[in-house]
This record gives sequence, C-alpha cells and structure tokens, in this order.
Amino acid sequence: MQKNHAIVLLSISFVSLIAGCVSPALNAQQPTASPAITTPTIKFEGRYIDVHTHITPNGMPIDQIIQNMDKEGIDRMVIMESPTDIYNGKPQSEFGIPDAAEKYPDRFIALYGGEALFMLYSVAAKGNYTKADEEKFSSLLDEAMKSRKYGGFGEVALRHYAAEDGTEITVPGDHPWMLIMSDIAAKYDVPIDIHMESEDESVAGLEKLLDHNKNTKIIWEHAGRSNTGKTTPQLMRQMMEKHPNLYSAVKIRKPKTAERIAVRILDENDKIMPEWMTLFRDFPDRFMVGSDIKPGEKEDEFNRIKDHRTFLKQLPPEVLKNIEKENAVRIYKINQT
Ligand SMILES: [Zn+2]
Repeated sequence: MQKNHAIVLLSISFVSLIAGCVSPALNAQQPTASPAITTPTIKFEGRYIDVHTHITPNGMPIDQIIQNMDKEGIDRMVIMESPTDIYNGKPQSEFGIPDAAEKYPDRFIALYGGEALFMLYSVAAKGNYTKADEEKFSSLLDEAMKSRKYGGFGEVALRHYAAEDGTEITVPGDHPWMLIMSDIAAKYDVPIDIHMESEDESVAGLEKLLDHNKNTKIIWEHAGRSNTGKTTPQLMRQMMEKHPNLYSAVKIRKPKTAERIAVRILDENDKIMPEWMTLFRDFPDRFMVGSDIKPGEKEDEFNRIKDHRTFLKQLPPEVLKNIEKENAVRIYKINQT
C-alpha cells in the first residue's frame, strides 16, 4: 500500500518534471500532487495504558505479568491494593506496591493505599477518631507523596458492596479525612482513584468531595459497571458537566444482572451503546481504560479483559488518542521518552 502510494507520487513528480521542461504554461495547469489521497486517521494500534489494575506478584510472577501485558498491548498499568485487601489489613507490599513500580518504572505506577486507607476504613466504620489519629492519617498521606514512590491515592472505596467480595464499606465523600486527602492530592498534583456504587447519598457525597478542592483530580472508576444500575451515561454526563475535576475509566465485562445490563458500554453485539459513545465524544479528555484486572487471581484474567480492545477499536480517532493513552499520560505525568 505504502509502496504503491510512493510510486504514484513519484510518477506525478516525474510528469511534472517533464512537463516543466517542455512547457512552463502546461506545467502551470498540472494539478498539484495531493498527498491527501488518504486522510490522516489515528487507528487503534493495539497499545493502551490501563489505569486501574491489581497485581498480586505472589500469584502470578511479575515477569509473567509483564509478558502478558506485552501480548495484550498494555504499555503501563496503574496498580493499587483493592479496598477489601486494605480493609482486611493486608500489607500493600503483597500487591507489588510500591516495589513493582520501583523495579519497572516504565511499566507500573503504584498508588498509595497502605496504612492510611486502613485507618480511613476503620474510622469510617467506627464513626469516631482522635486528633492524634487524624494527624497520623494526614502525615502518612503526605509522607507517601513526598517519597515520590506513588502516583496518587487508591483504591478508595466510598461505597463498596459486600456482594463484590464480602466487604461492605461506606465512607462519605465529604468525610473530614477525605477532604484532607483531597487537599494533599492537590498539593502534589496527583489523582484519587475512587470505587463507588451509585446511591443518592454516595453521589451527593462525591459531589461535595469534588467541590471541596477543584484542583484535585478524582477518577471515579468502573464506568459501564454498576450494581445499582444507576451509574448510567446520563448520570455520568450530569456529573462531568458540573465537575470539571471528575474523570473516569471504562471497565468492560459481560454483564450478568439486570442492573449491570442497564449501564453496559458494549451491547450484545459488542458495539458501543450510542449514549456512551456520545458521552465519550463530548468529554474525550475525561475517560481512560481501567480494566480492574487481577492477574493470578483467575487463570484467564488477561483473556477476560480483551473486550477493552474491542471497545478502543470502535472509538473515533480524536477520541481514541485521548482514551487509549493521552489522558493517562497527562493525569499521571507519564514520561514517554
Ligand atoms: Zn473497584
């Protein structure tokens, strides 16, 4: 194809050259060789950045995770401990945090969860805390960001259902400690990765968090998946219109419940639903891919996320370049050289 194109251009130039020698007048009438025979388009080249993943190096060795990333076209993964693991007090080091990111800085970005988030979940459940607790929480977050080992905070569950994996978590978006986290995130210009089922209260709390510090980038994860069926493209649109500091990432799975079918991004023929497509076109700088993969937890985890490629392939060029990589590059300040 490339070759033929080059030959066409070459022959046009040759004709122009001959024409130029024979008659300048004739030459003036020659149509200019237009390279616009093909309009430049950006197509999905099969590589993207995944901004929401959970690795467990104790399950699948890190080298094997990287090999699979290469096969799947995943340039980088943002890794974080899941809310349930944090809630159960499992150390973040078991999840490659921050070690994997330090060892392979061009493949992983680690988010800080750790002791501070464990404290947050406990305090939110208990309903009370001391001034000393708060100071400790705040300094843990600040120290983590100061160390430059982390790209942000997460995974922070504001509303997590026990049906997911046995852990029920509720942290109001306007909990004083969330406001502290938001200010520290803004101070270091890092995002907060949020897991939240849509309920009237949780959405209202998230709005207060978004309004508290408009410099804080909040990534409300798992677009296209909702156990209440309420995280619809319509709700997402309202929230994005109202809150310029709100971002999201697409998570695609075959939906099994009516609620999840109600918010799915791909229809039964694997086509992007029109309401979602319009939303991506209208807010191309707010969405990313966040597969929520947990390599090693299930044998075929990398197979389960293949639909993210099916999704990316359908995006119009100007939207694709943002969603596959550029938004993540900007938000996580990824150096691509
Ligand atoms: Zn989640």
